Amino acid sequence: MAGAGAGGIGGAVLDAVDRRLLDLLQRDFPLDARPFAAIGERLGLPEEEVLARVRRLKGAETGRLIRQISAIFDTTALGYKSTLVAMQVPEDEVERAAAAINRHPGVSHNYQRDHAWNLWFTLAVPPDEDLEASVQALVDETGGYPYRLLPALRAFKIGVQLDMEGAGDISPAESTQGSRATPAAAPSARDRAFIRELQEDIEIVPQPFAGVAERLGVSQEEVLAWLHEAKAAGWLRRFAAVLRQQQAGYVANGMAVWRVPEDSVEKAAAVAASLPQVSHCYQRPTYPDWPYNLFTLIHAKSREDCQAIAGRISQATGVSEYAILFSTKEYKKERVRYFVSAQEVMTSKSHILYTEAQRYMPGGVNSPVRAFSAVGGEPLFIAKGEGPYIYDVDGRRYIDYVLSWGPLILGHAHPQVVSALKEAAERGISYGAPTALETELAKRVVEAVLSIEMVRFVNSGTEATMSALRLARAYTGRSKIIKFEGCYHGHADFLLVRAGSGVTTLGLPDSAGVPEGIAQDTLVAPYNDLPAVDRLFSENRAQIAAVIVEPVAGNMGVIPPEPGFLAGLRAVTKAEGALLVFDEVVTGFRVAYGGAQALYGVTPDLTCLGKVVGGGLPVGTYGGRREIMEMVAPLGPVYQAGTLAGNPLTMTAGIETLKVLAEPGAYERLEERSTRLADGLRAAAKAAGVPVFQTRVGSMFCTFFSGERVVDYASAKRSDTSRYARFFRAMLASGVYLAPSQFEAGFLSLAHGEQDIERTVQAAEEAFAGIGE
Ligand code: PLP
Repeated sequence: MAGAGAGGIGGAVLDAVDRRLLDLLQRDFPLDARPFAAIGERLGLPEEEVLARVRRLKGAETGRLIRQISAIFDTTALGYKSTLVAMQVPEDEVERAAAAINRHPGVSHNYQRDHAWNLWFTLAVPPDEDLEASVQALVDETGGYPYRLLPALRAFKIGVQLDMEGAGDISPAESTQGSRATPAAAPSARDRAFIRELQEDIEIVPQPFAGVAERLGVSQEEVLAWLHEAKAAGWLRRFAAVLRQQQAGYVANGMAVWRVPEDSVEKAAAVAASLPQVSHCYQRPTYPDWPYNLFTLIHAKSREDCQAIAGRISQATGVSEYAILFSTKEYKKERVRYFVSAQEVMTSKSHILYTEAQRYMPGGVNSPVRAFSAVGGEPLFIAKGEGPYIYDVDGRRYIDYVLSWGPLILGHAHPQVVSALKEAAERGISYGAPTALETELAKRVVEAVLSIEMVRFVNSGTEATMSALRLARAYTGRSKIIKFEGCYHGHADFLLVRAGSGVTTLGLPDSAGVPEGIAQDTLVAPYNDLPAVDRLFSENRAQIAAVIVEPVAGNMGVIPPEPGFLAGLRAVTKAEGALLVFDEVVTGFRVAYGGAQALYGVTPDLTCLGKVVGGGLPVGTYGGRREIMEMVAPLGPVYQAGTLAGNPLTMTAGIETLKVLAEPGAYERLEERSTRLADGLRAAAKAAGVPVFQTRVGSMFCTFFSGERVVDYASAKRSDTSRYARFFRAMLASGVYLAPSQFEAGFLSLAHGEQDIERTVQAAEEAFAGIGE
């Protein structure tokens, strides 16, 4: 993994123009409405080329050389106070404590170290907050374990790396850089809002400040004027690019701590600081149970090398009492996010809403997986969705790969869908009587899905599968059905047998409240296991009404069918007089316009749809051959009904969604971006040495934290779910919203742009690196 980030940064891929561009970006990014055009003027390049080069320098090809382009604020000028904190946390509580600490926006570094003081983090707080009280509150939040405050009393060396990373352990020495005669004024509430926005990475678009202005509700000119004022006030050091450190193979990072007599500190520090492997050197306070007052950070290729360097320091200084604390896990390493109030995060609006929700709804949610129980932490409460993004009630934006669990294939609030819905709502929300809209959507479904000659709309996927199987039983006059382990078909009693999705996540083999008698007609085979299906047929001759299958399993992660599996099911059901039911609630209009049956060329007797076909409104659909569907009431004896079935709003959202999907190139675009994302995730894991099995069919994908091929429920369950949870949390912290469970599918929409995917892969690289061994 060492050097992975640096690969390709050598002379080969950077030409002279790139280098000049990097110099310029690092020194002074033009505070101009069209900064890339201004850079172009200086370099004699068109704006387009500057944008393309900067994107490349931020991309995988150059090892993501540019980490971020943003305002770099002066910690001390903003009045921030900071300290290092050591904690003693019981081994089995460390993970939880670290997660709680990491939620604080002022925590920039958080490591587990191999010492009785085993959790080490840095905290910076704004001027109006009390540092010690903030640490106390944070410690209380974790369970109140012993801790010691270790603020820097003197700084003897601060490595470049710290500056490059913009880290938060701020020293007096750093604060004097570019210091002003008079202390900077305190930023007002308005200033703080600007700082909050401008410290984030800008978008590489012609007018990057336009988005900032929109979020702040001001004009672009006001944003630019504010940046100039901030510079004059001393808050803004510069607006510039920060480059990623070239990883030169330093893999061991040891914090050597020394017990130095007070009158020798300066001399010892000078010796230690003179070594190039020592990046940081500080004096910190001592306690009866912490005798070390000099801290040095040593970078070396191995622990042994670190120890050798410490030995040399010991010899040269004559200080024999020392310890080296190696970091065994990196929980956090990022910039301090200024004026993102801890109060806001720790008592975030999401947290408050969640607490209240739990009083009125089981688990505070209306569908179990939403509660984040599989990944830890608390669910975000969402305020709005827009294109590929969701915004939580605390104003944070996330690239969304859940997309309401699949329906939003056009992204959030697609203008065409929204405007049609508004018009439809004005004509009345529901009539409980036929409309032309139902026929229009039915016609589109019939045209799209080969196996369907007639449909019935219902309100959920659950209803669709339940009704389709009722119909299959009526049609065949048989009562048993075969389903596959780990496939989820909604929560009808007889289908809650070894189902995936939330049931997998929660580790429930079954649901309570399902009478045994109801489940006994449900036979279960492993996914992708045709011989097992054959056996069930031969053991239950002429009793099996149907085989129901997700043609691409999407509720135990994403597992594609093995070659021949679906065709084999088709053959055996036909030979045995049973119906083949494809549950395409997820895959319908998702993996192809005609669903998985079009993709794999296997035609079932009945098909269940949901999700995309309702464009984000509650929906389910089942359909199939005319002679079967004509058994449904009122034509036939199979009863099935619904108060809001086929309601005009759902029909409208479905029609508009299918219209957009039917446009030429839609699925090609989805395929291209999904490939790029899946490849990027796979490569990122590989670079970090994290074993994963990446799957993808169309715009459904899953990263299994497993070193083996995942083909069925048993192999899926062998994934490392706690690693997934850490990955999920790291991605969330970077603004990427993945499914809060290893056993759910990720989805892409047409609204996800190249930059979103780039950012996601970049976040994944960092997340994987953070959870590697
Ligand atoms: N079938 C499959 C394959 C599903 O993934 C789901 C839900 O995720 C359902 C059926 C049930 O759909 P609904 O949640 O709309 O009841």
